[in-house]
Amino acid sequence: MNIERLDELFDRYKQDMLLDLCALCAIPSVHGPAEPGAPFGRENRRALDFMLRRAADFGLEALDVDGYACHVDLGQGEQTLGILCHLDVVPAGEGWQTDPFAPVLKDGFLIARGATDDKNACVLSLYALRILKEAGFPLQHRIRLVMGCDEERGSSDMAYYKQKIGMPDYGFSPDGSFPVVYAEKGIHRVELRAQLPEGGVLRSMQAGTVVNVVPNHCFVTLAPADPEAARRALLAEDPQLSIQAEGGLLRLDVRGVSSHAAMPEKGVNAASRALELLAKASLGLRDGELALVRALAKALPVDKGYDGHGLGAALADEPSGALTMNLGLLSLEKGSLCATLDIRQPVTFDDAQVLGAISKALQGSGLSASTRSYSPPLYLSKDHPLVETLLKTYRDITGDPAEPISMGGGTYARSMRNCVAFGPEGLPGETSGGMHEAGEHLSLRDFYTSGRIYLHALASLAGKA
Ligand SMILES: [Zn+2]
Repeated sequence: MNIERLDELFDRYKQDMLLDLCALCAIPSVHGPAEPGAPFGRENRRALDFMLRRAADFGLEALDVDGYACHVDLGQGEQTLGILCHLDVVPAGEGWQTDPFAPVLKDGFLIARGATDDKNACVLSLYALRILKEAGFPLQHRIRLVMGCDEERGSSDMAYYKQKIGMPDYGFSPDGSFPVVYAEKGIHRVELRAQLPEGGVLRSMQAGTVVNVVPNHCFVTLAPADPEAARRALLAEDPQLSIQAEGGLLRLDVRGVSSHAAMPEKGVNAASRALELLAKASLGLRDGELALVRALAKALPVDKGYDGHGLGAALADEPSGALTMNLGLLSLEKGSLCATLDIRQPVTFDDAQVLGAISKALQGSGLSASTRSYSPPLYLSKDHPLVETLLKTYRDITGDPAEPISMGGGTYARSMRNCVAFGPEGLPGETSGGMHEAGEHLSLRDFYTSGRIYLHALASLAGKA
């Protein structure tokens, strides 16, 4: 089969792809209240219906999986090659200069919520199936494009799909990065708990709203015996500190810098800063309080606490690099303290090893550690045929000799075995961006380059040799 025929058809449909992407981005498929046949709200239902209608227009067989997801099939074969994308988007948020759900084409960019995450991949994958079908491209495996509606809120769509339909045998998810992501770290959420006697100096602490972001504020309430002396002691440690005196209480707002939990080195953890401040300043904390604050400050220091060394968990391996740790949530109320960690652990370690190391480091501190949730890592070796084929396709089309990468973030690819994330971010000279932010924008050059990569990857993986 002549591969040039695929490129010819690709060029013919470029305009149509873009128009379909605009139409899809005009549907505000943010999570909404469940309705019959629309478990994630009516806009997600509309996005599904749009893709199902286009699949039918192209003569492709499609199935609606109860509004959780849909799939579109091409060809037959013992094995099924899956492509996993999602139709849902995060809310628009503040700061847009254009209407996020009225796509704008400007200077070679498409500006709209969902343009890069992940509607571009949905449309390009559907067109890849259309082109392979129209070219009569001989396939040895069935290709199945699976599009879900709940990726942004934890992938319950794929859990449902897996149970009702079953996952494809192997494949890729264009919802990560090029050249190809062969390792995604395990995501381990761990809680540290301790109990303080009530009525001490340390009355309350609160930092973070979600565990996967480095907190940029930590609010602390103190009831010191001598509030004025305590205030001076705090300011001696941090002259910039915001302190409000109220009755006999001091209310502190300790500041930090936010970043994503998978890249904690880019932030400054406000909760760790608060703990260090309380451990250092002479505030007249009671024995139990001071010991606990010191133990936590030592376990989760401001300086490189994110590498886990304070908790005996500075682990690393060759395929995926170093462990990262984020103290994402901290609360102290009525004497009950809870610190929640978001840990991205290297692929060759499991949850029990990491929890064991942490528990050992905490012995005698009065803190206990337990696992709240665990999502195992994804790891295929660099010479796995799937990784090799995808990498070769990427290199052939872009000319970029980049090596496979590992990531701390979790993608849809974890929903099935033998699956890796493959694009759409990470193209050479990439100018698209703004995922989950205001002004999400897709460069049309990136759009068409990734589309050709997907088309050729499908032909190489599922085509008859
Ligand atoms: Zn996504």
